[in-house]
Formats: sequence, structure tokens, C-alpha cells
Amino acid sequence: MPSAGDDAILIFSGARAVDPARELDAVVDVVIEGGRIARLGAGAATDELRRSGRARVIDARGKLLLPAFVDLHAHLREPGHEYKEDIASGLAAAAAGGFAHVCVMANTKPVNDSRAITESMVARAREVGGPALHPIGAITMGQKGEQLTEMADLRDAGAVAVSDDGRCLTSSNVMRRALEYARTFDLPVIQHAEDHALTEGAQMHEGRISTRLGLRGWPRVAEDIIVARDVLLAEATGARYHVAHVSSYGAVRIIREAKSRGLRVTAEVTPHHLALTDASLLGYDPFCKVNPPLREQVDVDALRAALADGTIDAVATDHAPHSSLEKECELAEASPGMIGLELVVPVLFDLVARGLVPLTRLVDALTRAPARIAALEPPTLAEGKVAELCLVDAERAVTIDPARLRSKSKNTPFVGKALRGVVLMTMAGGRVVFEDAAPIDR
Ligand SMILES: [Zn+2]
Repeated sequence: MPSAGDDAILIFSGARAVDPARELDAVVDVVIEGGRIARLGAGAATDELRRSGRARVIDARGKLLLPAFVDLHAHLREPGHEYKEDIASGLAAAAAGGFAHVCVMANTKPVNDSRAITESMVARAREVGGPALHPIGAITMGQKGEQLTEMADLRDAGAVAVSDDGRCLTSSNVMRRALEYARTFDLPVIQHAEDHALTEGAQMHEGRISTRLGLRGWPRVAEDIIVARDVLLAEATGARYHVAHVSSYGAVRIIREAKSRGLRVTAEVTPHHLALTDASLLGYDPFCKVNPPLREQVDVDALRAALADGTIDAVATDHAPHSSLEKECELAEASPGMIGLELVVPVLFDLVARGLVPLTRLVDALTRAPARIAALEPPTLAEGKVAELCLVDAERAVTIDPARLRSKSKNTPFVGKALRGVVLMTMAGGRVVFEDAAPIDR
């Protein structure tokens, strides 16, 4: 892995630097010295410095330089399902996707419901290097929805939130107690909102297309009911409540109303819910089976609008690797989920190029907004800060090639799709953790 040593100087020359947190959108030079942003501004890289032979100069003209991304929702499958993904391959995928921080879900095997597992994940990630890993602890022991975990232990071991993601925490009583307990540590409780009683046997979104295909549907209301109830519980307890992977326009409406009343409610949306509809299932493609399901254009439009106006705070990948065993089979047998860490830029910058998502809000939703939810120091483009940034060629056309993906699993319907946007370089914790194969040095 390439790395900038502590005495190395790296110059991004003539980049368009965009950092909504600093209201920055300007063509500048950025000088990295000893892993920190030493200077940032027009002409910051002096001729003397460029010619000194001490600096590596990267021609960043026409490229975007952004704060590195923060993912609130990834499944890295270690411990327990390392044949799908492990912490090393997952963090390599994250680096290639532009991420400096990855929050990982607790539905490992065993479930991350203890200090020991949380600590072992953090230790493994430190060994691997690259982007930082932040565990999300389970809300209930074994994610069984009954007995609360020792959240104090989980938090002390490094957990940034709690979630039973993969399953919904359906009991109102347990959810209430979880919110009360998490509030004492100010930990966000992340809900996978799905009333399982309404989604049994569901293969896709319930609508005209599921009827036509003869498949059992997952109705929007199964999501909306849980979000509505949880908002009431969040109000009653004063706790921080975060909705994972919002997919329905009804949930957007409830979240908007909750925020307008000043409740401590936040939400995330995935790239695939912003880009695809249930029409993708017309060919029975198991790669398009996700939970919650791809919905209709009216939902996609509502999600894009909610992302644009900040009702939805963050973009999160819900990176869910599955091997060909779980995916190359009939739709009914296939496990739900798709990979996402390496696809954020091509999928979402394609939407930006088409005028469907505003660039600055998208950057905020990938950097400052998720960092705030997880109470992490947000990557930012400012002098004196540790270099956590990514260099993106937003114009470059790209066809998604599974052989080039770092993730162990290749389950994504975007394979073979022509998109726009490539990550050229990622820095995390002051070090270069990813560099595109194509040479970018001047
Ligand atoms: Zn989920």
C-alpha cells in the first residue's frame, strides 16, 4: 500500500476543492506535509516548493478534491462470514471508494453484542491499516430483540452507535428501554425499520410490478409504521434516533415532520435507493434484491428531494457482500443486499452530472453529516487538519468491472453499467490508503 511518510510532501496542484462545511468551492493548491494539510489556497504550492525535489506533485486540474467520506452503515462480515468479506478486504474496498471512516454493523457471527467482539474488530482494523473502523454494537443480545446489551461497555470499547440492523427491533417496550438507556451515553439508536409481520416472504417492493411478476411484496407501510412509532418513542425519551436506509416517501414525510418539531431524529439513504426502482426486478435479477426493497419513482423522487433539503442527513452504503452461493440462484432463495463501498462515486456523481442531486449537499451527506451522527471528527479541507481527503475525476466515464473491485463479493447490479466518476486517490489518517492504477503525477 502506498503511503506518504511523515516527512513526505504531497501537492495537489490546481484542484477544485469542495468542502461545504467550510463553504469552500475554489480552485486551489493543497500542500500535505507530515500527514497534515499544511497550506491550502491559490498559489499555495510555490515554485520553490515544486522544484525542491522534496515534493510529489499531483496534477489535479479539472479534478475534485473532497473531504474523505464517512460511511454509517457497512457489513464487513468479520467475524463469522469471512468468505463474503473480511475487515481487510472491506477496508480496502472502502479506501478505493473514497472513505476514511467506516461504521460497521453488528450482525456478524457471533453478533457484536459484547466488549470483547467490539475490541477485536477495532484491533483487527488497526492491524490492517487504511480507513478507520468504528463498530456499531447490537441493541439486544444476539439481536434477538429481548435483552439489552451492556451499552456502556460497547461504548467504552469504541462503539459509536447501537443497532440490530438486519432485523427490526419490533417490541415497543424494548425499543423504549433501548432509547432510554442509549440516551444516558448519547449514543444514537439506529433502526432497520421493517414491521416483519407485514413483510413475511416478501421478495420485492409491493406494487404493480410485484403483482405482474407474481412475487410477494414488501409494502411501504411496513417501514412507515416503525418510523412513526419510533419517532413517538424518541420524543417521549429525548433520545437520539437514526433511521437506516430510508426507502419510502411516507418515511420521508414522517422524518420531515419530526425534524420540524426539533426532535433528535436523523436519517440516511443508500445510493441504490437514490438510483434504482423496482423496475430493475423485471428480469428477476437477484442482485437487485435488497432490504428494504427498491421502490417506485415517486419514492426515488422523494428521497432525492429529502437529501437535497437535508431531511435525509447522510448517504450510507449498506454495503452488504454476499458470495455467488447466496446470489446466483432464484430470486426467492437469494439473500438480500448489494455491495456499495466502491460504487458511491460512480453511482452518485452520475446523478450529480445529470442534475438530479446537488454536489455540495451530496458531499456534506458523505462527510460532515454522517461524522456528526457518529460523533466523529469530520474530515475537512482546512489548514492544520490531518489529511483525510479524496481526489475524484467526476467526468471520467467508467464501466463497472467486477474484476477491479476490491470487495471479496461482486454482488451489484451496476456491473457492466456505464457511469461517470472515479476515485483517483484517498487519504485517511494522514496517509495515502488508495491510489488509482492510472498515473496522475505531473
Ligand atoms: Zn438494514
